[in-house]
Amino acid sequence: MDAAACIGCGACIAACPNASASLFTGAKITHLGLLPQGQPERQTRAMRMVVQMNLEGFGQCTNIGECEAVCPKGIRLEVIARMNRDFLRARWTGSGQP
Ligand code: SF4
Repeated sequence: MDAAACIGCGACIAACPNASASLFTGAKITHLGLLPQGQPERQTRAMRMVVQMNLEGFGQCTNIGECEAVCPKGIRLEVIARMNRDFLRARWTGSGQP
């Protein structure tokens, strides 16, 4: 539940040369995706959050790691991998469709 520690401060986005919001978004997707009550909408939520993140104009993550280095709550890059996994699973299975 380390991902639940995210306070939404935005330091990760400010530090990223790509202005990516992947650490923040990944933290929220991971937090909710690990809860038992978060399972029913897990794929749909991941799909919608990633799509919205892209619509808002944030940059793409290229695994630079500045976000993790500056995060005051110690959110790890693994949350981005989990976000990508849930998003891709939703795309491949069609389970992310509302
Ligand atoms: S820097 Fe850390 S605590 Fe702040 S929004 Fe990003 S992931 Fe959340």
